[in-house]
Amino acid sequence: MIAILGAGSMGRLWAATLPAGQVAFVPRPGQHPEPVHYRFQPIEGEPLSVTVPWLQPGQSPDLLLVTTKAGDTLEALTSALPSTPPSTPIVLFQNGLGSQQQVAETWPERPVLAASTTEGANRPQPGLTVHAGRGTTWLGALNPAGQAHVEPVAQQLATSGLAVQPEPDILGRLWQKLVINAGINPFTALLDSPNGEILGQPFYLKWIDPLCQEISQLLDAAGQPSAAPEILRETIEAVARKTAANTSSMRADMLAGRETEIDFINGYLARLGHRYNIAAPVNQMLTERVKQLN
Ligand code: NAP
Repeated sequence: MIAILGAGSMGRLWAATLPAGQVAFVPRPGQHPEPVHYRFQPIEGEPLSVTVPWLQPGQSPDLLLVTTKAGDTLEALTSALPSTPPSTPIVLFQNGLGSQQQVAETWPERPVLAASTTEGANRPQPGLTVHAGRGTTWLGALNPAGQAHVEPVAQQLATSGLAVQPEPDILGRLWQKLVINAGINPFTALLDSPNGEILGQPFYLKWIDPLCQEISQLLDAAGQPSAAPEILRETIEAVARKTAANTSSMRADMLAGRETEIDFINGYLARLGHRYNIAAPVNQMLTERVKQLN
């Protein structure tokens, strides 16, 4: 049985694509609601009708996928783990950084893995989950206890038909995504623009170079491969152009009045600057301004 903690867009994507009958959502404490019914629109083909039960007391999952937002993850796991066997691998799907380390530090004996995914899923209306973009999910261990689980969990997740790859350097891959997200997402939210439209705007043009300077120093301090600020800017802008019409998750959260994941993107970088004594005022400013949008 694969348990999924977080019955949102990402959780429903995996629940709809993994073999039927092998998946259950993890309820909040004291909550034993009716099974979850929804329509699932795959990238190709007709919508499917999906029903996913909730994990019942006494059921022991052999895999736990965590698809909550980064800010909810620690609390959600604190409730869910007492009824999860200690040997069950935990796979964290959160964007950004910070929440993964919190989990690995809080439960060092448990096998903790992280996934970095370029799959896209959203819920444009209640009861409908759309697989909006096909991607790849990279999977790697965050602690020694997780190491032996990477290959078998990758194989288990690949039964969904989604592309899943073991990743020896999952932290490095999460960092690569963090850099892109830090350079695009706050601007899309603050400027209320699709990804491509930020590039010509004065606010973006004012801050992107100092932001990339900060990120370049922070990459070095964190032991990640060095990247010059100009290269970081080129990389960020190439992605913004390639995804020009897309609405970032941060802008979507802002428009829907939901809390964003800024604390785990630019906020994480600002905290890292504090820890390494590296000035990160642009990351701090972007974090504060995005938080003011809520
Ligand atoms: P989402 O649609 O908001 O789903 C999160 C789900 O977690 C919600 O259903 C929420 O329930 C549930 N939840 C929150 N606290 C919980 C708790 N204590 N116990 C049980 N469930 C709880 O978010 P998402 O888009 O799936 O994203 C999840 C994570 O995946 C994020 O970190 C995101 O950055 C990452 N990600 C998403 C995508 C994507 O395409 N969607 C792509 C890459 C990465 P309520 O709604 O009832 O609060």
